[in-house]
Amino acid sequence: MTQSDIGLIGLGTMGAMLALNIAEQGFAIAVWNRTTDVTHRFAKTAGDLAPRITPTDSLKGLVAALKTPRAIILMVPAGQAVDDQIAALTPLLDDGDLIIDAGNANFRDTNRRSAAAAQGGPQFMGIGVSGGEQGARHGPSIMGGGRAQDWARLEPVLHAIAAKYQGTPCATWMGEAGAGHFVKAVHNGIEYADMQMIAEVYGVMRDGMAMPAPAISAVLDGWNAGPLQSYLIEISAAVTAVTDAKTNAPLIDIILDRAGQKGTGRWTVIEAQHLSAPIPVIEAAVMARNTSARLDERLRGQAAFGAAPQPLPPSTLEVADLEAAMIAGKILCYAQGFALITAASTEFGWALPLPDIAKVWREGCIIRSSMLNDMATALADDPARNLMLAPFFADHLKNTHHALRKVVATAALHGLPVPALASGLAWFDMMRTGRSTANMIQAQRDFFGAHGFERLDGGADHHGPWAMNG
Ligand code: NDP
Repeated sequence: MTQSDIGLIGLGTMGAMLALNIAEQGFAIAVWNRTTDVTHRFAKTAGDLAPRITPTDSLKGLVAALKTPRAIILMVPAGQAVDDQIAALTPLLDDGDLIIDAGNANFRDTNRRSAAAAQGGPQFMGIGVSGGEQGARHGPSIMGGGRAQDWARLEPVLHAIAAKYQGTPCATWMGEAGAGHFVKAVHNGIEYADMQMIAEVYGVMRDGMAMPAPAISAVLDGWNAGPLQSYLIEISAAVTAVTDAKTNAPLIDIILDRAGQKGTGRWTVIEAQHLSAPIPVIEAAVMARNTSARLDERLRGQAAFGAAPQPLPPSTLEVADLEAAMIAGKILCYAQGFALITAASTEFGWALPLPDIAKVWREGCIIRSSMLNDMATALADDPARNLMLAPFFADHLKNTHHALRKVVATAALHGLPVPALASGLAWFDMMRTGRSTANMIQAQRDFFGAHGFERLDGGADHHGPWAMNG
């Protein structure tokens, strides 16, 4: 039997497609799945690629099918399944072998697993893969982490299978240990925010402007030819265009309004809090999914207080206002996301390559958009500068923030919830307020806790005469 170049465990949605992609790029791959039937079904559907795929029925068989030093990709659910697979593989592997977790791991788990591998046994690396099923099959975006030498070893395979942006592979090494999985988590946080902002303007059009789904689809389709061009706008136009075969109504109108999630947005928000990095647009998006899940409570709220959304008087808002608001919201969201990455880079001793991160997101991943190319340029120009201050994006914001304010204010007056857009606007206003209201916070803290304050006219650790007055 010819030895395979690489192994893969977990032939679910992502693993099966990744295995076909790897085989299509000319690599021989051996695969194993917990449920053996799945392995055989997969091998039977591999068609022309079957000669490059070796199905195996046991982990021992998988290990025996690989060239040494071996490299085995795990594509199983994050958490215990990954630890279990590492534990099962470790006694079968040699020190020079490599286990690659390509699922959506929490980067702290990846740090822990990398540290354990450094003590001996097979090496371990964590890589973030984005693009869903089609991305995995035809070219995902890959955010690598782990030891640089392990990345170098795998790079030919990862570059071959990755999406290409004008010929450049969207697969880059981000740094040691959990760096790749951290960047993937931020990607997913931004994905939540992009999706939520689209859902919010959809809500303004549906509930405020009484637009039927096909009309909304046409608007989104039009936006996809402008600065908002992106995969998520494109698929939102597509999903609003579909008619349900059973009811003849737009399918979107009969989909239950309770959003699911697997937790990567939540991880991003938790890490941002640990890092004191403000990411309010992403926080609002996670909050909105959590609130959407409380359908019964929402229905009780509606019964108690009346339905919030009210129709807008004619000509209150134009779709052009919504487009401009989305542009501003998107810039603010990405500015926050990149600032979070900068904070993590400092805190964890990584050198996360901001321009390369923007580049790797240009194709293959769920947040791919034309704006990311401009972001890559702006970040290459000055990675330390907040993205909203880069001249290209500052000009965009100057042209669009009035529309964001108009949309948020109008939506608030008519009960149309736009939490992500509103959070972006509040942050934008705070970020251009030289004299904030935190002097009040400091006075309060000093009053009840003697925490001290700085004075504008100089000196730290002053105290007010509160005790005297109290
Ligand atoms: P699926 O649920 O489609 O497949 C899961 C796979 O893992 C199956 O092959 C399953 O085997 C196997 N598996 C489950 N539990 C165990 C276990 N305890 N031990 C061994 N094998 C196990 O998941 P996806 O392919 O969607 O996701 C895989 C990973 O990729 C996850 O980390 C996910 O977050 C990530 N991911 C998913 C994306 C997506 O769009 N779906 C996008 C990017 C990343 P069996 O057949 O026996 O059940």
